[in-house]
Order: sequence, then structure tokens, then C-alpha cells
Amino acid sequence: MDFSNSQRLFDRAVKLIPGGVNSPVRACQSVGAEPLFIDRAEGCLIFDADGNRYIDYIGSWGPMILGHRHPAVIEAIAKVLERGTSFGAPTDLEVQLAQMVIDAVPSVEIVRMVNSGTEASMSAVRLARGATQRELIIKFDGCYHGHADTLLVAAGSGVATLGIPGSPGIPESIAQHTLSLPYNDVDALHKVMAEKGELVAGIIVEPVAGNMGLVAPQKGFLETLRELCDRYGSILIFDEVMTGFRVAYGGAQALYGIYPDLSCFGKIIGGGLPVGAYGGKRALMSKVAPQGSVYQAGTLSGNPVAMAAGIATLEHIQKAGFYEALDQKAKHLLSGLERAAQKAAIPVQTQRVGSMLGFFFNDRTVHNFADAKTSDLETFAAFYSGMRQAGIYIAPSQFEALFISAAHQTEHIEATLEAAERVLAQL
Ligand code: PMP
Repeated sequence: MDFSNSQRLFDRAVKLIPGGVNSPVRACQSVGAEPLFIDRAEGCLIFDADGNRYIDYIGSWGPMILGHRHPAVIEAIAKVLERGTSFGAPTDLEVQLAQMVIDAVPSVEIVRMVNSGTEASMSAVRLARGATQRELIIKFDGCYHGHADTLLVAAGSGVATLGIPGSPGIPESIAQHTLSLPYNDVDALHKVMAEKGELVAGIIVEPVAGNMGLVAPQKGFLETLRELCDRYGSILIFDEVMTGFRVAYGGAQALYGIYPDLSCFGKIIGGGLPVGAYGGKRALMSKVAPQGSVYQAGTLSGNPVAMAAGIATLEHIQKAGFYEALDQKAKHLLSGLERAAQKAAIPVQTQRVGSMLGFFFNDRTVHNFADAKTSDLETFAAFYSGMRQAGIYIAPSQFEALFISAAHQTEHIEATLEAAERVLAQL
């Protein structure tokens, strides 16, 4: 494969943009590679600046559940462009998308649109603190909730990929109000809540963790969170930026039947445009300005182009059988990967919740970030490089999930498995 155009663009980019990228994991540093510059994408295929074609399992890190350039989404965007691109004033489209989110997600009675997942979780945390008049936030090691100061403690995704504990620039006076506990550890939760429960404003969690690789909640974990938040009057926040409309139309809360006080969304609800949202119980959300005094705002919030893309996406994914079909494809991919690894005698642990899936080069089951970090990162880097050479585009980090879209067909999954078998056999 020729990568000379990507190479040339990267050489220019590093002089103009920190690390040459606008979000760290894209730099592919941890796998010893350089980023591919993308020219275009169609369905489940993505094409780089040198014309190389890949089967895409990143899907813009989750939003492209229908595949790239789905005709209904493109048409909705084209139509709304005739009206303008931003007004900084309310439109019918915001009302329509809010209604769709509320209809879909059991615990959301009222919802505020923002522009990113970071803003959604940052705002939910502010609301939890404002509503409870408490300061302490509990999160979980390896979960990523965007890059707001409060939440960038022991975080997953790029922070995990770069192996850094947090970030300079976050004052200790802020970080000290965040406690990070091991994911899936019910005993640690009980202990901390028994000591500090009355000081805890909220607990924020990825109900299925997708930012330390994919780690599913063990039975009892989400239930315990709900029970302890009720007992101590703390706000339970599900960060469904990745899981919302992904693991089920109603998100992880619908899948597991555990309902948070506040939920955060992003990715899919914007249909590939910059959108986030947070919502929950009416009594709580009524404390948000201008109804209440917890301030949060956004010039481009509820942007009509983004709303139109989100509405078109949600209209499509609520059709009967949509999630079942995704499930089957994800199952096919993951069982094939397991078989290929077995054949090559390489230990691999896989996890899947709906069309979110992950694998660790590890011989122990991964339940938390400490487990995830014992994975063989060198093997992952070699696997990543081999797959990329074979035209398969997966996240350049052991600590990210893979996503299946409706555009992936059996032939794409089989081609991926053939490549995986070849690459694993050579490792
Ligand atoms: N929460 C979760 C669970 C996420 O996965 C992400 C991004 N991957 C975020 C929040 C932050 O979203 P954004 O990158 O849109 O700010």
C-alpha cells in the first residue's frame, strides 16, 4: 500500500496542529503508526488520501451506526441546508429530536442539547452538584467521560492509550473532588459510600465501558450503583454517549432495566454531526437555566443541521429488527476472531454488548481497567498494523471498542476474518 499522501499531509499537519491531530488517539502513537488521512467514506468502507480502501470498524468512534453517507441522512442534511445552517434560536428540529430521545429512553423526561459528549457529561456533573449542594463525584478507572477537569481523573480512551494518569492544568483543588474506583467492584463502592456517601453529589459511569476496550458490567454492579445512590441521595449519571441508541434503542438502561437520574448522550444522536445531550427527571432538569439556576449554554446547541442528521438516523434505527440484525453481525465477527486467535494459539478475551465489541490479547477475563492493562499491547500493535495493511480499519488502541454498522454485510465480515486469520498466524 502507498501511504505517501497521508504521509505528506501528516508532515504538514504536525507543523500546524499539536501532534498533527485534533484528537489524540487519531495520532496512532501507541501502535507505532502514523495517522491515515481520510478522503471519503461510503457505507462500511473508508478511503484514505492515497485511495486505499478499508472496512471501517471505528465508524467515527460510534456515531455511524447506519454506515457512512446513509442516503436518508444525506438527504435530511441537504434539505435543511436550504433553510440555513445556524440561527442561535430555537427551531422545530430541536423539539422533534428532544421528543425522540424522550420517547426512546425510559428515564429521560426532559433533555437539553449540547455539542459534544464532553459538554453533556460536564453539564450533568454540574447539575448533580448544583442540585445536591455537594461536591464529591465518583467515577470509575478506565471510564472516559470527555475532557472536563472534574472527569479527567484515571480516565480511559486517549488518556489510557497514552498511559497518563490525568492531565497537567487540572488544579488539585478540582481533582480532589473526584474519586475514581475500580469498575465492577461492588465492595469498593460500598466501602466508599459508607464513609462518604453523604458528601457524594453523583456517581457517573459508562453502563457498558467502551473506553478501556469493551468491558461489560457484571451482574449486580449497576444495581448496586442505583441502590447506593438512592440510599445516600446521590445522583446516578449514566454516560450513554457511546451506549445510547447503540446497545439498544433505549440505551444500556433499557437493556439492563436500571434507570439513572441523569443520562448523557452523544455520537449516534447527531448522526455524525457534533451533538451531545443530557437529560433526566423533570424535577432535576428543571434546575437548569433558564428554568433554574444551574447555568449551561451553547451558541451552536441544537444546531439545525446536526438535529436533522440525528432525526434521520433515529428514524431509521428504530425500525423493527434493526438491532437484531446488528447483533448477528457482531456475533459473527467476534466468534470468527476467537476462532482465528485460537488457531494461532494467541490468547484473546472477547466481550460484546450488542454491536459494541472488544477483544483483549490477554488470558484472563477483563472486568476492570487494571485487568485491561495487563493485555499484551505489543501483540495488539502488531495486529493493528497487519490489519491496516490488509485493509481493515480498527481503533489504533487496545483501549477502544469496535463498532458494527448496518452497512457491514456478511462479505465484509468474512473478508475481515480472513485478514485476521492471516495476520494472527504471522504474529
Ligand atoms: N463519554 C463517553 C462514554 C465517550 O465515549 C466519549 C467520547 N468517546 C465522551 C463522553 C466524550 O465525547 P466527545 O468526544 O464528543 O466530547
